[in-house]
Amino acid sequence: MTLDKISVYLSERKRSFNPEIMAELNVLKKDAIEKEDEELANEVWYYETISQIQLKFLQIFDDLQADDYDKYLSVWCEIDHICILFYFLRNNFSERDKQFFLPHIEAITAELVKLYPYEVFLSRETIVKREECSICGKELTPRNRCAHIPGKLYWGELCSRNVKELELLAMAIVEHPFDKYCVLFDEVTKYNYCALQELMHCWFDPYQTWHTIVTKKLLPEFRGAKVNLACPCGSGIKYKKCCMDTPSELMEHTHIAVNGVGPKLCSSKIYRTKIPLEISKIPDECEPEGIRAHAFLQVR
Ligand SMILES: [Zn+2]
Ligand SMILES: [Zn+2]
Repeated sequence: MTLDKISVYLSERKRSFNPEIMAELNVLKKDAIEKEDEELANEVWYYETISQIQLKFLQIFDDLQADDYDKYLSVWCEIDHICILFYFLRNNFSERDKQFFLPHIEAITAELVKLYPYEVFLSRETIVKREECSICGKELTPRNRCAHIPGKLYWGELCSRNVKELELLAMAIVEHPFDKYCVLFDEVTKYNYCALQELMHCWFDPYQTWHTIVTKKLLPEFRGAKVNLACPCGSGIKYKKCCMDTPSELMEHTHIAVNGVGPKLCSSKIYRTKIPLEISKIPDECEPEGIRAHAFLQVR
């Protein structure tokens, strides 16, 4: 198969990805390297990356359709992987990202993230002791570097730093992690994936577009609260002097608007997507070498 034919395949709408495409690309890359054509080898990487993005995207759609509790985390990780692939694609082919459904996939995956209930993550603090260049294999130290730039392409391969020795200093609980897949699960409460489940009732085709509209709405317990009576939050203070007109009485609501599905079905529905979590402070006595992170989660 030629690159032109693969390009045509990648432009077609499909419900499953032909696994032979990856094998074909592998052969094409080997040929390019044999012919000592670095530009062609990099071009093959471009198509490999788009193939991976499409393959993962179609897999995400299937997994969400399956509505299996255990698959939601792996879908989350695949979304993160797609984000990383987009980053490297832009890094090397910044001028070409309007084809092969890429804008659609990028927009949909960003919207999917908003429907996830995950709010807290683990973030690692580490010192890299020893690392090697993935292209030349040279061991790198602050004084001994090579010419390869991480994230750039060389002969159809992405340059990265292979960490050979790592010292783990601490783990922190954060809201915006570097590694999105380090999701913190509390032992008792199950995450609520109702927003994704509702989405799958009206998202029938991976190429169908949809978007979310996030608004704030009054929490049910505050509906009809009287200004001069006790605040529904249980503080014992009058409502008007406590939560009234503050963010404490509001919750996040997400509307999902799906193209091709009448507004009646979706815009009238309101979803509570997040499990309200309260994160308490990590005790100061937590020792850095105690790698086990303690999660203090209270679900209201
Ligand atoms: Zn190198
Ligand atoms: Zn209150």
